Amino acid sequence: SLTAGIVGLPNVGKSTLFNAITKAGAEMANYPFATIDPNVGMVEVPDKRLDRIQELIPAKKVVPTTFEFTDIAGIVKGASKGEGLGNKFLENIRQVDAIVHVVRAFDDDNITSVTGKVDPVGDIETINVELGIADLDAVDKRIGKVQRAAKGSDEAKEELDVLNKIKPVLEDGGAVRDIDFDEDEQKIVKGLFLLTSKPVLYVANISEASMADPASDKYFKLVNDYAKKHGAQAIGIAAETEQEIAELGDDDKADFLEAEGVTEPGLNKLIRASYKLLGLETFFTAGGKETKAWTFKKGTKAPQAAGIIHSDFERGFIRAEIMSFDDLDKYGSENAVKDAGKLRVEGKDYVMQDGDIAEFRFNV
Ligand code: GDP
Repeated sequence: SLTAGIVGLPNVGKSTLFNAITKAGAEMANYPFATIDPNVGMVEVPDKRLDRIQELIPAKKVVPTTFEFTDIAGIVKGASKGEGLGNKFLENIRQVDAIVHVVRAFDDDNITSVTGKVDPVGDIETINVELGIADLDAVDKRIGKVQRAAKGSDEAKEELDVLNKIKPVLEDGGAVRDIDFDEDEQKIVKGLFLLTSKPVLYVANISEASMADPASDKYFKLVNDYAKKHGAQAIGIAAETEQEIAELGDDDKADFLEAEGVTEPGLNKLIRASYKLLGLETFFTAGGKETKAWTFKKGTKAPQAAGIIHSDFERGFIRAEIMSFDDLDKYGSENAVKDAGKLRVEGKDYVMQDGDIAEFRFNV
């Protein structure tokens, strides 16, 4: 399954954020299995659509979908020089599918920042430079390998062309994700497992005072501007406060959130943004014992989506009967959706859409 890795300089609040995530995860009513790896935290994806579906098509149970965060510890500075722990840091990033990049955006004289000041954009660049150097190193090595083969093989030639397209961008301090590739090139890039090709979300760890309105926070603004310039997204989270919130029971939590002037924990925003960053979407099943959310990778076709529920559903797939959440929400019942002609019958080539409520027909 896909996982988002939490990355950042020391003392920016990564562990605090990860604790908030695992605390929230430990509270999950339907936690299906325990994780052995302490660096992996499972979270439920908060989705208000589930409650609405449950209201209109009641079932015994409501089951949200889940996904994983990975806490990536290790030495950052000089990592690309390949020394011990630094190397491990890069290896760990290589194994995740998206990067949640946390930077310090709070003032607190008691907490030492590695750079001696609060400089979120500088922090971002420190890490991105390490990742870029590591990628450049990998690209150079790969060029050395395929150069000769490129004379005799079209395949190697194509790879070499891609490598030569990437190299100057990295030399300029850019990231692979900033480059436009066509579909064939994309396949080659995917096989290179480069660190700066992974999608990134910037998380500013803001002070509690900014929680109700992160957009007005001076540090968040800097991070947001940087992210925008690089086609990425940024969010502001008060990690320490989120950790406190995650520890509260439901009633206390509601009171706390109201006092802070927010409608939901910032963690929810982080979870949803990370889920999207991973290219994940949700379909629902309803009308049986459970109202349930399922995760699929954007672009998944109906039989494979059915296979997420059970391999038999994929093997014997006949068709999918689908209504969109928006239609159910609008018409108010399954029958009303049907009467409006909005219940669709889809075949094996149908690409699942976020918010689809599906019933699969299959041969056993
Ligand atoms: P890591 O090294 O990035 O994992 O950072 P930690 O999560 O261990 O946090 C470093 C220190 O900063 C700890 O003492 C935290 O309690 C503190 N800290 C984390 N988030 C915040 C925050 O939002 N505000 C303040 N004032 N302190 C924080």
